[in-house]
Amino acid sequence: MGEVLPSRMHETCDALVVGAGIVGAATAFRLSERGLRVHVIEAANAPATGSTGRSAAGVRVQFASELNVRLSLAGIEEYREFQDRYGLPSGYRPQGYLFLVPKPLWEAHAEGIRVQRSAGAPVQELTTDEAQTIVPFDATGIHAATYGPIDGVVDPHALTSGYLKMARDRGTTLHLEHPMTAARYEAGTWRIDTPHATFEAPTIVNAAGAWAGEVARMAGLDLPVVPVRRMVFTTGPLAAAHAYPLTIDMASGVYLRSEGERLLFGRSNPNEPAGFNEGMDWPWLEATLEPGLSRFPFLETAGLDRHASWWGYYEVTPDHDAILGRHPDAEGWVDAAGFSGHGVQHAAMVARLMAEEVVDGAAHTLDVAPLRHARFHGDARDRRAETHIV
Ligand SMILES: Cc1cc2nc3c(=O)[nH]c(=O)nc-3n(C[C@H](O)[C@H](O)[C@H](O)COP(=O)(O)OP(=O)(O)OC[C@H]3O[C@@H](n4cnc5c(N)ncnc54)[C@H](O)[C@@H]3O)c2cc1C
Repeated sequence: MGEVLPSRMHETCDALVVGAGIVGAATAFRLSERGLRVHVIEAANAPATGSTGRSAAGVRVQFASELNVRLSLAGIEEYREFQDRYGLPSGYRPQGYLFLVPKPLWEAHAEGIRVQRSAGAPVQELTTDEAQTIVPFDATGIHAATYGPIDGVVDPHALTSGYLKMARDRGTTLHLEHPMTAARYEAGTWRIDTPHATFEAPTIVNAAGAWAGEVARMAGLDLPVVPVRRMVFTTGPLAAAHAYPLTIDMASGVYLRSEGERLLFGRSNPNEPAGFNEGMDWPWLEATLEPGLSRFPFLETAGLDRHASWWGYYEVTPDHDAILGRHPDAEGWVDAAGFSGHGVQHAAMVARLMAEEVVDGAAHTLDVAPLRHARFHGDARDRRAETHIV
């Protein structure tokens, strides 16, 4: 007699979430809170191992577009209240974000301040002298600075675990090592395969981060999200402890911030090719340090900790903004992806909006029209790209 193969698992639910990063976890929680039977499938053997676990963990209201400001503001408010509301840690620390802005960029940046303030987001305008009292830097070419006092950092692992715990408490099931491999839609039901199971649900939420384009393709759908590798370099311990905010030299794109007694720093490589390129790009360290040392000479005194440095994928769209909501070419398929490097801070509000999209028919707490798929199908000249990209 041959070996008896374990029977293939079949599950039926109201909504299947693909991906257990912070976006999938928070969305599963909000859907289950609304009374839906939810399953989450995750390719890896643990949650938050995609971009979520590799982010710089920053949260900031300082964006150029009003919707991004509002998404961040709501996220910061939720993370700030997390312990009180849910009895779970978020790791929120209002360490601040400090933008150092050269003259040619000031006009556009100042327009951002107006947008942020009108959305109720606190932001301060500082002279270079005032900014230098927060972080020492060489002010050559810097016109002025802006500081976000409620901006800061969170703990993306803790938040993902917290959302998943609350989702499970409301009946959600998480399936680890269950990569989606195929999808088909028949008679109002999606059938999603993993190597071990088939899930049936009328609604799919694609929260697969940098893999969201691939996941959509398996369902025959186009979703313009590509992975782009990014580095975070880490110094050894500094001689004295600091709590430097996430400080961005907008002239070069170099950023740094304190993490305990160390510094994290980085700079996005504009020529990094899209794709699942793996490992540290060490040659990019030099291209980061050169402008970094001119702007922040104190970096010289901090040795690099190569082992503590890391890389991960931004999930990039053509205009560096997320793609949210029902896919126009499919019934019951909702995308929450393409955050282009700012998904940790937007996850909290996006999850509420996606639950509205599924349960109420359309997201309504905020008008997400600017982030819907439709923007890629209209006149390209109408599209405006987010400019406050790090
Ligand atoms: C270096 C770096 C710095 C960053 N800094 C910040 C920052 O300061 N602030 C900020 O807000 N954001 C930052 N980001 C971006 C942020 O990390 C992402 O926007 C966010 O984590 C996206 O969350 P997610 O849940 O959508 O994706 P992910 O965390 O990537 O989760 C997607 C999940 O889907 C799973 N998956 C993939 N394929 C499949 C499949 N076929 N079936 C099932 N599961 C699948 C993956 O394994 C993964 O766990 C940074 C990113 C990087 C790389």
